[in-house]
Amino acid sequence: MTYKKLLIISDIEGSSACLDRASAKFFGKGWPRACLGMTRDVNAVATALLDAGVARVHIRDFHRTAYNIIPSLIHPGAVLHQGYAAGPVPGMGAPEGFDGVVMIGMHAPSGSRGFLSHTLTSRIAGVTVHGQLISEAQLFSAALASFGIPPLFFSGCPEACTHTRKFMSDVHTFPIDKFKEGFHAPSWRQCLAEETVKSLRREQPVTYNPEGPFRAVVTMAEGRQAAKTLEQRWGYRRKGRELHLEVKDFAGLFRELSRLAFLTPLGEKLVPLALPLYHLMGRAGLAWAQKKPLYPDEPSDTGAETE
Ligand SMILES: [Zn+2]
Repeated sequence: MTYKKLLIISDIEGSSACLDRASAKFFGKGWPRACLGMTRDVNAVATALLDAGVARVHIRDFHRTAYNIIPSLIHPGAVLHQGYAAGPVPGMGAPEGFDGVVMIGMHAPSGSRGFLSHTLTSRIAGVTVHGQLISEAQLFSAALASFGIPPLFFSGCPEACTHTRKFMSDVHTFPIDKFKEGFHAPSWRQCLAEETVKSLRREQPVTYNPEGPFRAVVTMAEGRQAAKTLEQRWGYRRKGRELHLEVKDFAGLFRELSRLAFLTPLGEKLVPLALPLYHLMGRAGLAWAQKKPLYPDEPSDTGAETE
């Protein structure tokens, strides 16, 4: 099939210059450098897709404030979306008309090994359905399924890729092993772009949204008290530090988890008012990050790239 319009979801943990927890943190040490690495990774992928004949490539910045990618370094033919959007797909609004989604810079789910693994927030120690850990790739794909958007490609740490292949076997994966000796970001990035293009060979991609109803078990990392607060706030069933959520499908699970992780009932009503302020904060952070000197002698990247 020909892919005319694709969506790229871009996270930071599995990107080429995010080397520790602080690099993924808003205003963290190493975050400016991680932003640059993430920008170069996503730009390599977007450029390769455009060169391969995809007419429209949209990028969604999807980490923390959703302002990490440096817009001036992105191919002018790609459309960059920063800041979260309200709508049926948490954070993404109503993404219409895409032939597929590509997920890069991703990580493994909470409760698994892997680099900076988490599911929506590190306050969650694990989300399971039938005893199996659920990842963000599964949740995002499920939410996009109602818009007819199939998952095509996934990149993250080796553990994240293994998890994706286990549960979404049709998705083409490409790992990042940035702590391996000899890791060279520009060469890895080129392979990432080539592998993304290979994922377009799929003739009949299928959407992913396992149908329930399911009982999902959410284990809170902060323990019993945190679970109790959420039990009282949203009326979930609770057992110790576990919350038991009854959901219709994985898309419903994503909506429920987004509320649980990021909102309060009042906050939910105030989202339309709060989003512009949150965007302002994100823009201010990225402006700060762009002013930081970058450290060319750090091992993750080379001074050779000075675009
Ligand atoms: Zn992230």
